[in-house]
Amino acid sequence: MHELGLVSGVLDVVTRTAREAGASRVVSVLLRIGDMAEVNPESFDFAWDVLREDDPLTAEATVEVEYVHPRSVCSACGETFEHDRFHLRCPVCGSRETHLVAGREMDIVSMEIEDET
Ligand SMILES: [Zn+2]
Repeated sequence: MHELGLVSGVLDVVTRTAREAGASRVVSVLLRIGDMAEVNPESFDFAWDVLREDDPLTAEATVEVEYVHPRSVCSACGETFEHDRFHLRCPVCGSRETHLVAGREMDIVSMEIEDET
């Protein structure tokens, strides 16, 4: 289950960022994940629930994930198109000469923290 590794990586960044900001706890995190990263949402949520407890800073943090459709540009005709994980062929000219411009991201969009007061 590669979601464990992904969540672990995200939590590393989240806790480091929160500590640098002087947070006492992380309330919520918004992520954007491309479909090409092949993340299973249920596994991801499960991994989050397990791993967030490793650090008191994130023990109660909730996560929200925006899953992004992959997008490619056709090298033959220049068309930009959205697709799923398996259909990479250009819908306009049928070319397979396409390259991915979005869909592999794994970004922390925003996070809500509480300061030590
Ligand atoms: Zn094309």
